[in-house]
Amino acid sequence: MPNGSFPMIDAHIHLDLYNPAHTQQIMEECQSCGIKKVIAVSMNLSSCLVNREWLQSYPEQVKVAYGFHPEQKLPAEEEIQQLFDWIDQHQAEMVAIGEVGLPYYTQLEAKKNGQAFDPEPYIHLLERFVKTAGRYEKPIILHAVYEDAEIACDLLEKHNVTKAHFHWFKGSESTTLRMSRSGYYISVTPDVVYEPEIQQLILQYPLEQIMIETDGPWPFEGPFTGQVTHPVMMKDSCRAIANVKGLSIEETASVLYQNTKRFYGM
Ligand SMILES: [Zn+2]
Repeated sequence: MPNGSFPMIDAHIHLDLYNPAHTQQIMEECQSCGIKKVIAVSMNLSSCLVNREWLQSYPEQVKVAYGFHPEQKLPAEEEIQQLFDWIDQHQAEMVAIGEVGLPYYTQLEAKKNGQAFDPEPYIHLLERFVKTAGRYEKPIILHAVYEDAEIACDLLEKHNVTKAHFHWFKGSESTTLRMSRSGYYISVTPDVVYEPEIQQLILQYPLEQIMIETDGPWPFEGPFTGQVTHPVMMKDSCRAIANVKGLSIEETASVLYQNTKRFYGM
């Protein structure tokens, strides 16, 4: 791992989706490569339990968010209620509700295959998470891209929830403007290094509302092809963002770090 790194925070990683030995290795390596903290987001209740264990193993480095990832089949109401009850019991230790949102890619796939898809139950579930975030005054971490981001914005406005983090955001110029004006934050993955669409987004979005993430273990392309996703990749993200914004890498990294600390109250 390189020396002389600047401090960084991975604002969105799935620690529970690596094998445990690998997660432990990543957390050990983070200490020597400038990664001060990671926000460990959850997929569902069993994922929350695993992330809670990582929080207990690395209480300084790991911050947890509890939620239900929208790109999967909805469980029965009883199971959903179990998750909300569990969140009620453990809300003090979580820094946010997440990952929650809307099933953009699942819906796209269904349409492509000529299958019917009803997004309403997902929207209803997201509204419950938005209300929970509001009740506990916690930030909410959203998987809501393109047109779905507009639905998420409507729900946030309806319930006066302002601390919203749209992770790996992609969307139209008008949606992007609506989000930046509302004070919402976005985070970008290492694909900012090689995706013109994301570089364009960075150009448009205020630097003070941007964070960096890996969404690990999700794999990346371009210079990262074949590599296991690691938070140290965010160093390249900082360089790419600095290039787009016309700033030094140190200055850029410092703003991104402060943004994440401020947003998550760390
Ligand atoms: Zn994710």
